[in-house]
Amino acid sequence: MKSGETVSRERGGDAMRSVEEHLADILATVRTLAPLELELEGALGTTLAEDVTSPVPLPPFDNSAMDGYAVRSADVAGATEEKPVVLHVVDDVAAGDGAVYAVGPGLVTRIMTGAPLPGGADAVVPVEWTDGGTASVAVRRPAEAGNAIRRAGEDVRAGETVLAAGTLIGAAQLGILAGVGLRRVLVRPRPRVVVLATGAELVEPGLPLGPGQIWDSNSYTLTAAVREAGAEGFRAGVVTDDAAQFLDQLDAQLLRADAVITSGGVSMGAYEPVKEALSPLGTVRFERVAMQPGMPQGFGVVGEDQIPIFALPGNPVSSYVSFMIFVRPALRKMCGLPPEPVTTVTATTTAALRSPQGRRSFLRGVLSYDADGAATVTPQRGQGSNRLAALAAANALVIVGEDVTELPEGATVEVIPL
Ligand code: AMP
Ligand code: MG
Repeated sequence: MKSGETVSRERGGDAMRSVEEHLADILATVRTLAPLELELEGALGTTLAEDVTSPVPLPPFDNSAMDGYAVRSADVAGATEEKPVVLHVVDDVAAGDGAVYAVGPGLVTRIMTGAPLPGGADAVVPVEWTDGGTASVAVRRPAEAGNAIRRAGEDVRAGETVLAAGTLIGAAQLGILAGVGLRRVLVRPRPRVVVLATGAELVEPGLPLGPGQIWDSNSYTLTAAVREAGAEGFRAGVVTDDAAQFLDQLDAQLLRADAVITSGGVSMGAYEPVKEALSPLGTVRFERVAMQPGMPQGFGVVGEDQIPIFALPGNPVSSYVSFMIFVRPALRKMCGLPPEPVTTVTATTTAALRSPQGRRSFLRGVLSYDADGAATVTPQRGQGSNRLAALAAANALVIVGEDVTELPEGATVEVIPL
């Protein structure tokens, strides 16, 4: 036997799949969503499906960058504090003023920020350099040609590409789309992701618990994680451990879904409705992935439209970690964003760690930085995959490799900030 990895993966007879293999299967299956034309208001968080060019130069015309006076720079060349140059004010030009103005020698207009530069003027003197006069103005400093003027096309030339296909539309990107006059854009929409929790023991938070029952937390966590990932999350609530009921619910939900996430019902016990319902379809595989938490994983496609379904394990920490490792990258691909390696930070452990042989661990920890910027990570005391509170108190996942079973305090590890 060559490596510890080979030994452990094959222990028990049926080989586990590596995290990379499972993720590669998922990414090979999910498709980028078809483009859709959306109003600007609805385009935040979507990805551009085409290059966007500007039909006009920006700014569209020469205009003033400040409130002040439009002048001929030669007229104010000799202005000083002691000997201001006094010029005659012929007009007021406000932003939005569509009239045509010009200044001759010795004449100026008042001008406001964003107002078109009058013909003949080649500089703007800020009001702070003057006495602020309205009939005549005393200018106390010279202004060079071009001073406080925004030239037509200095930001964008007509026909120039302002955003490339594949750009994620955030606030500033919406700004330039509106700024070049667009009302609608062709985008990859945010994937609509339905979240279904399974478990006969689950009760909606807010309702009383009966014996043996717990409140459903996974559907809240997963729907929120979907939204944090920039997709649209729909919490479809809880289904009991009945395969037929599960299929009915799934069918009803598929109408509005680009992807489905389920939690629970995928392990080795009895009453595993997700596995029972989906295995016979032949399009969803259930496997053991060499990780902890999150070993049982199901993935495949369902329905006429071959909607991807992520059947995540039910333990709250397992389903959340599975989401971060497998579902998040898949949602990125559906959005038309390039694949991105999981971002990790190198940190030093403040306590010893244990991890099972043959499985990659994602342990919950608190990442912090000391005054010199050195990162340390403190593992949570409770590492059970049911430990909701420990997860909520963590801000990072510590990655421990498949072949590592123990790490001392002070070890260097890679962590995923949450
Ligand atoms: P399962 O994967 O269905 O066998 O569930 C594994 C564990 O996770 C059990 O202890 C379940 O009670 C718990 N669990 C399953 N689904 C949820 C949920 N939606 N919210 C909280 N805990 C859950
Ligand atoms: Mg269950």
